[in-house]
Amino acid sequence: MQGSIVKTVETVKKARAAYKFIVLLGSPAYVVLIIIAVLIAFVVLLTMLPFLLFAEEGSLNHTGAVSSSWGPVQLDADGSNYQWPVPSITRITSYFGIRNIGDGAEAHGGIDIADGATNTELQPIYAIAAGTVTIAGTLSTYGQAIYIDHGGGLVSIYGHLDTRMDVKPGSIVNKGQRIGRIGAGKVGRSTGPHLHFEVRVNNKRVNPLDYVQPIIQVSNEISYRPLNLLLANRYLVSKKSALADRSILAAIDQAGKAQNVDPMLLLAITGQEQSFVPITKKHADLIVKNPWNVFGCWCSGKGATLSTEQSALIAAKTIVKLSQDRPINRNAIEWLSAKDNPRGYYAEHNGWWIGVSKFYQVLLNLKE
Ligand SMILES: [Zn+2]
Repeated sequence: MQGSIVKTVETVKKARAAYKFIVLLGSPAYVVLIIIAVLIAFVVLLTMLPFLLFAEEGSLNHTGAVSSSWGPVQLDADGSNYQWPVPSITRITSYFGIRNIGDGAEAHGGIDIADGATNTELQPIYAIAAGTVTIAGTLSTYGQAIYIDHGGGLVSIYGHLDTRMDVKPGSIVNKGQRIGRIGAGKVGRSTGPHLHFEVRVNNKRVNPLDYVQPIIQVSNEISYRPLNLLLANRYLVSKKSALADRSILAAIDQAGKAQNVDPMLLLAITGQEQSFVPITKKHADLIVKNPWNVFGCWCSGKGATLSTEQSALIAAKTIVKLSQDRPINRNAIEWLSAKDNPRGYYAEHNGWWIGVSKFYQVLLNLKE
């Protein structure tokens, strides 16, 4: 009898608990919990996004607008790069594509180059390539503009200029020739002094960053120094590294030189990422082709299709890209993997930069 009472009490307790749970399911508190869970998932996804996107070339830029380009893809007729139109300014304040102005979205047919009023007003601008000036004067929304026809359907356009120009319609210009200056204050339909720069191909607007890109300098402490092949090789041999190879080291030096990045830093990253690829390691012959894990990993996808030369160059370009916008009080290597770096980060792991810095110091201190 007593047992059955206890059982009944327990059953009632269970029923109450179940009832409470059912009430909770339908209550606003449960809805709030679901919303919080969804929000948390959303925040986690957003935080992870730059890392996930790292697998895609050129996608590190937070604007997404330059995702189609990683270094200019179009070259001048003689195979050289086109000239960046404003050497004194590397900052792009608005990218090619859709942007929001006021309440409506509109297409931005070019890029805007500016760096605050004082550093922008009256800065000289230069022809990106040789050509013939077709327009040089007042032009509705641009205020003053210059159009240069480079032949082959290629036209470059420079808008919001100062009224005093160095060229007139019909002028033949050389690549890198000064053509005018950025206007002071508001010129045409603009919110402040800037160069609006456009490239058209057969009268169609294209992303100017496929043609020109500013030369961005990495911090002096990690900029290019010729690699001491002998020292580097000797160290790598001591690490039983698959990178201990004259032609591989020459390729790493070349990649560093091309991007003005210290090849020793590139090696330090292989130390952190792959312990310098010991020859005893499984798949060392494959890892050595991409010891920087560009495109996420040496093991799969695009990252598995590269040569050492290619992956070294992409790693160097990544360093240049991530070096931008570094606050002066931040360590140059730490900034490469900082979660608040607006260009993305090299590695997810917080200790990454400490490991890289450690290997870098060891390599810099190698003695004859
Ligand atoms: Zn513009």
